[in-house]
Amino acid sequence: MGSLFRYISDAIATTARMGSCVLCNSESQLFPIECAIDTDEWTIESDYSENLCTECIRRTPLRRFLVRPGERIVQQFVNQQFPRGTLAPDERVGKMVSICDEYRRTPTFPLFLQGEDWPHCCGDFCEYLGFPESYERSIQLGREMQCWEGDFDELYGDITLEPESLHEVCIFRCLTCDARMFTWQCT
Ligand SMILES: [Zn+2]
Ligand SMILES: [Zn+2]
Repeated sequence: MGSLFRYISDAIATTARMGSCVLCNSESQLFPIECAIDTDEWTIESDYSENLCTECIRRTPLRRFLVRPGERIVQQFVNQQFPRGTLAPDERVGKMVSICDEYRRTPTFPLFLQGEDWPHCCGDFCEYLGFPESYERSIQLGREMQCWEGDFDELYGDITLEPESLHEVCIFRCLTCDARMFTWQCT
């Protein structure tokens, strides 16, 4: 679990570039996130991306951030992990609310060229670990890791995991069972 962002590994988060935060003007590491920062502006458009510091991402009211597509499935995967009777109703709601809150405040680092499809496992979103460091590694993990979109061989046949850009391949880890998986969305 990342210390800056629950769903982004520190190894990735700490490589963010420095700059001046558009909200507080501090010189900080900046993270791309979709939000409306103008106080009179209540409509949040998608692709309305700003670069904010971690402090501003933490303390800005949640309603200023774009509702993420992935939030739709939170209820489903929490209920799947905790079947009826295993959690008190308020605990269940609390869990869903905190996942959505955490997720909406997560920078848009992974490259989802065909739309956001953030992996989840064990009743929570997974942690983004980055992209493969080389084509050699990419081909290898195509064989050994679970492909989030489905069975890799069925989807791609004899094609090996050699994306146009290595950034297209995003590696994730389950925060509970440590399972690894990758997504591959090509152009
Ligand atoms: Zn700031
Ligand atoms: Zn898991």
